[in-house]
Order: sequence, then C-alpha cells, then structure tokens
Amino acid sequence: MNSLAAVPERLAVIGGDAAGMSAASVAHRRDPDLEVVAFERGAYTSYSACGIPYFVAGTVGESENLIARSPDEFREQGIAVHTRTEVVGVDLDRRELTVRELNGGRERQEGFDQLVYATGAEASVPPVTGAEVLEPVLKIEPAERLSSALHGQEGKHALVIGASYLGLEMAEALISRGLEVTLIDMAEQVMGSLDTDMAAHMQDAAEGLGIRVRLSTALEEVLLDENDHPRAVRTSDGEIRADFVLPSAGLKPLTELAEAAGLELGDTGALRVDDHQRCPGHDGVFAAGDCVESWHRLLERPVNIKLGTHANKQGWVAGSNITGGDFAFPGVIGTAVSKICHQEVGRTGLSESEARDAGIDYVTATIRSTTRAAYFPGAGPIWVKLLADPSSGRLLGGQIVGVEGAAKRIDVLATCVWTGLPVQEMQLLDLSYAPPFSGVYDPVLIAARQVAKKVTG
Ligand SMILES: Cc1cc2nc3c(=O)[nH]c(=O)nc-3n(C[C@H](O)[C@H](O)[C@H](O)COP(=O)(O)OP(=O)(O)OC[C@H]3O[C@@H](n4cnc5c(N)ncnc54)[C@H](O)[C@@H]3O)c2cc1C
Repeated sequence: MNSLAAVPERLAVIGGDAAGMSAASVAHRRDPDLEVVAFERGAYTSYSACGIPYFVAGTVGESENLIARSPDEFREQGIAVHTRTEVVGVDLDRRELTVRELNGGRERQEGFDQLVYATGAEASVPPVTGAEVLEPVLKIEPAERLSSALHGQEGKHALVIGASYLGLEMAEALISRGLEVTLIDMAEQVMGSLDTDMAAHMQDAAEGLGIRVRLSTALEEVLLDENDHPRAVRTSDGEIRADFVLPSAGLKPLTELAEAAGLELGDTGALRVDDHQRCPGHDGVFAAGDCVESWHRLLERPVNIKLGTHANKQGWVAGSNITGGDFAFPGVIGTAVSKICHQEVGRTGLSESEARDAGIDYVTATIRSTTRAAYFPGAGPIWVKLLADPSSGRLLGGQIVGVEGAAKRIDVLATCVWTGLPVQEMQLLDLSYAPPFSGVYDPVLIAARQVAKKVTG
C-alpha cells in the first residue's frame, strides 16, 4: 500500500449493506482504478432490512426479493465482496484489517489506504434471564429462520418486546401469519417518536387488528421449556403465554471495533463524524449509516437516528469524498414514515417532548380531515398535527396519521421544516388538488391555518 499516493489505491469497506455498499458503489463508479473491497459477515449485500416485516408477513414473496444487489452482481462490476467474512480488528496505523472467514475460521490481514466503517446497529436485548435465547430479526437470515418457524403455527402465541415502529411492524406481520400477538413496552405509549395524542391512533390501529397492547409493562424473565424454547414471559404485569418472543426493544450503534481502533464516539454512543463523513483525527477514515451521529438541524446537536434513508445518503457522501469529491451531508430533521396496521404514519422535525426537552417554545394545532374529497370513494380519516414557533411562525414539526394516501404528505411538511417556512405562508401554499387526492384545501394546509392563528408575532 502506498499511503502517500495522491489517488487512493485500495478502499476497504466494513459492512455490506446500505451505507457500506453505497460508498463502495459510488467510489468505484467515480474512480474505476480504485480497488474496492468490502467485508460483510452475513451472506447478503445491499438488502432491504426495511422489507423484513413484509417478508415475514408473506407480502413480498421470497427473501431474495429484498436484495437490491447481490455479492455476485457487485463482483461483476469489479467490487471485491467477501461475504461471511467478519472484520475482527482494525489497525489504523498499519492500515490493516484482520478478517475472519466465518466458514472455517481462517484469519488473514487485509491492507487499505482508505476505510469506510459502516457496521450498522444491533438490537438491545433486555438483560433478563432467558433472553439470551432470543434472536432479533434485523437481518435477512434470522427473518428466513423466523418465517420458516412460523409455518403451521397459526393460533400460537407471539410476544413482541418494544412498541416502536419496528415492534408494531413485526406484530402486524405475526398477526397476518395467523398468530395471537401481544406487544409490550415499558413506556406509557406506543411509538415514542410521536406525541401521545398521535400515538394513540396507532395504538387503536394495532388493537383494531387484534394485537394486544400492554404498556407500562416491563419484561422480567423469559420462561423456557425443556428445549430452551420460550413458553411464556414474566412481566411487571404478570405472566403472558408466548411460543415466540421477538426482541424489538431498541437498537444501539455497533461501534466496538471502531472504538478499539481509537475512533471517537459522541455523546449518543455513535461514531463522531464531520459533515463529510470523515472520522476526526484519522485521515482517510470515513464512517456512515446507523453507526454514526448525524447533525440535527433543529436541535443543533448530533443525534443517532437509524434509518436507511440517511445510511444511503451518507454512504454516497463518503464514497464521493473518498474519490476527490467535496460533498457535505446536510444533517437530518427526524423525518420518518411507516405503514402499520392499515394506518399510515409520518413524522418530521420536533415532537412536543423534543421541543420541551430542548427548551424550544412552540404552539401546536391538530386537525382531522379526509385523505380524499369527503365524497370520493376511498376517502378516510387523516390527522395532522403541527408545531410552530409562537412568534415567527416557523414550522418546527409535523405528525400525520391516516388511511392510505396520508403519510407521504409528511414530505411537504419536511420540506417546510427544512426551509424554515412560516405557517402563515404555508397555509396558502400552492399545493395540488383533485378529488381523488384531497379536499380543495389539503389537510396540511388546514392544519397550517389552524396553527397560524396561534402565532402572535
Ligand atoms: C425491520 C426493519 C425495518 C426498517 N424499516 C425502515 C424503513 O422503513 N425506512 C428506513 O429509512 N429505515 C428502515 N430501517 C432501518 C434501515 O434498515 C437501516 O437504517 C439501514 O439498514 C442502515 O444501514 P447501514 O448500512 O448503516 O447498517 P446495516 O444495514 O445494519 O448494515 C451493516 C452491515 O454491516 C455488517 N457488519 C457489522 N459488523 C461487521 C464486521 N465486523 N465485519 C463485517 N461485517 C459487519 C452487518 O452484518 C450488516 O450487514 C429498518 C430496519 C429494520 C431492521
């Protein structure tokens, strides 16, 4: 390796999914002479973890449908992908990785000039007796195992730990496979990323589908049968029968390897990076995706929000900058969307609790309207909640829950939050209208008008 060369010779990527393979692809495209090598401990590359609940539900067919680009496709393009190969050591001074082949256990050294660290996140499994047998379903292989295990298990009992959007999506998938499902969470509401009033609609949707939601309920023990399979769980609210137990109680950035190599962690526990995805103090070392911090444009501090949308963009930024580009990742505002139990849900910017915790003043308004003109077939309820600065009217955040057609309206709100548009101006924004899509005033405009009435400036 010649680390003094003006053009990097060998780029190594740790982690073969959204962030890592985005970086690898763009770097290879921009500089075909660069040798690009990627290490992935699983069997797949560039898979859609986001599609896992739909695969488990049986909605999207085979698991291969979730693979955007296979290891062989990358190899054909000239990117050397090593699957079932785990990076177990990083020596930044010697520019060397220690990698272990998971089939056979052989270890070897691999050199690099530039490095992208994109190891993602892992599940936080509650530290209670019996939980060690539980398998989080964040990757394709465990999803395949779960899906096979569910065959012929209709009527059995499943328990999902954690009522975030991931827990709700998995609970819905299990219901659609014919199981009786209980969802527990220590919190007092589902989906902590929403305000309580909006989260209540999601709880209604889950319960409407038959999911038993038990809040303020802590897991205390997983009770196992003689084969070490779950048979029940003990909780702060009594025992619950459970033939399947799915941990979905949060994710933490996977940073041990980077920490051991001397890379810096931020207060969130994720890797600290600058806006070019560079790891401070380490030339030629980049990081992207679920394992890093991102700048929150409203809170004006780093956050660790684990979403595929950020991972892909940050990987692109890293890969571009490695090959002579000068691109900044502009930060995040907490935009997310999901479809859960026949309800669509989206959020962007600040929730009430985030604004309160950050000492940011706000006024708020929530409206109920219809997704299409009220008379048009398929019209259904939509709730839109907005937060605005009480004196300038700047839109600070929005949440939307509703039937089909509701959620992607969050992108209008995200654009307004991003640009700092005041709600007084937003209420007459030139948005499109036709009866199959909305009433003549779109619900986001109605909500803007309501919150604008409370702006005093
Ligand atoms: C069920 C589910 C649903 C989701 N739904 C959405 C959604 O709807 N929208 C959205 O935006 N996001 C969603 N996400 C989040 C999204 O999938 C992640 O944010 C995204 O995959 C992060 O990409 P990443 O490349 O940073 O990490 P990952 O996708 O986790 O990839 C990291 C890779 O690194 C590998 N790795 C780790 N350590 C090593 C090592 N030492 N050596 C070799 N390889 C290693 C891992 O095996 C993994 O394949 C969902 C996630 C899950 C689990």
